[in-house]
Amino acid sequence: MTQGEPLTAPFWAAAAQGRLVRPVCDQCGHGFFPPAWCCPRCHCESWTYRESSGRGRVYSHTTVHRGPDPSWPVPYVLAIVDLDEGWSMLSRITGDPPDDSVPGALIGRAVRVSFADEERPPHRVLPVFELAQTELAEVRP
Ligand SMILES: [Zn+2]
Repeated sequence: MTQGEPLTAPFWAAAAQGRLVRPVCDQCGHGFFPPAWCCPRCHCESWTYRESSGRGRVYSHTTVHRGPDPSWPVPYVLAIVDLDEGWSMLSRITGDPPDDSVPGALIGRAVRVSFADEERPPHRVLPVFELAQTELAEVRP
């Protein structure tokens, strides 16, 4: 067991069940990510994992053309997603990357969580995001 596992184990267990959760402070109600020993707002050490709707919008994104090692499938889109409950997380946006000549093409786009099996060890289920279908339908002529 690695050092970080006790804190994040419930997060990974929820993801394996197709649920996205985040820590919510028991004292001030602040939702935050990644999980930490205390609330970053009030430093209270009591918080609880609560389920998220998994819906949000792209705050920022970049297209990665060179992965951490040469075997990674590239390109992929790495994004900060602002979830509807007021917290944010770094994740991937699935689907084809946007045109690199249009910086920030996905900023503000509605997304919803999806779950992907990680192909490399430790073979966890990763929360990733897909562009919301309703918004895709709206941009079609
Ligand atoms: Zn707090």
